[in-house]
Amino acid sequence: MAWRCSGRTNDELITNLRNANIIQTSAIEEAMRAADRGNFAPGNPYDDCPQPIGYSATISAPHMHAYALEWLKDAATEDGAKILDVGCGSGYLAVALARLAPENGKVYAIDYIPELVQMSIANTQKADSDLLSSEKLQYSQGDGWAGLPDAGPFSAIHVGAAAAAVPLALVGQLRPGGRMICPVGPRFGTQYLMQIDRTTDEGPVEESFTSTRLMGVRYVPLVQPGGGGGD
Ligand code: SAH
Repeated sequence: MAWRCSGRTNDELITNLRNANIIQTSAIEEAMRAADRGNFAPGNPYDDCPQPIGYSATISAPHMHAYALEWLKDAATEDGAKILDVGCGSGYLAVALARLAPENGKVYAIDYIPELVQMSIANTQKADSDLLSSEKLQYSQGDGWAGLPDAGPFSAIHVGAAAAAVPLALVGQLRPGGRMICPVGPRFGTQYLMQIDRTTDEGPVEESFTSTRLMGVRYVPLVQPGGGGGD
């Protein structure tokens, strides 16, 4: 009954998510209170459901952001954490991750649509411009299937769009012990949010991780830029 978490303000939304035990830890509560969804969702920002942001993209529902942050918490809060947000869309989760990360942490956020990169920057400038001036959060245009090999290895990777199969290039950019949360499945079929834990950086990448199915989900596809729907 996630819709019950909707609020009239950001604080009320976060309080409801915490009372429903979807937000389980104070660190996530603080990060989500600091990132006001009103700066990122064009309409009904405090409803607990996804909202369209244009370009066939949506800002995910608040409860999905909360789950993703909880599952990434340990990796994203370690000393010097390097975090990659793939498919940053509105910029919301990139900002929440930057608020969660330690002082010496850094978030890289990419989207393949340049207008959405610009939207993320504009949304972040409204109340979180300190993250841009300090370069704790850095946006760029990029393809999520390829990731950001020069910036890694990452402690934590969040993928905000459903990949047809586990993106191995991204797995290869996780440090051993690092974690990726990624929806996997076909565009119109059953998708699951997967937790990918990198176990080693030796040997073939496809044998270097464990995967855990977290929940059934519906995300927009992680497209192959220039090559169709990714499924
Ligand atoms: N986390 C975002 C989700 C946006 S929707 C938010 O809550 O606002 C998913 C995003 O993935 C879209 O912005 C879409 O443009 C992006 N996307 C899809 N395929 C991609 C790819 N191959 N590389 C990078 N971004 C991609």
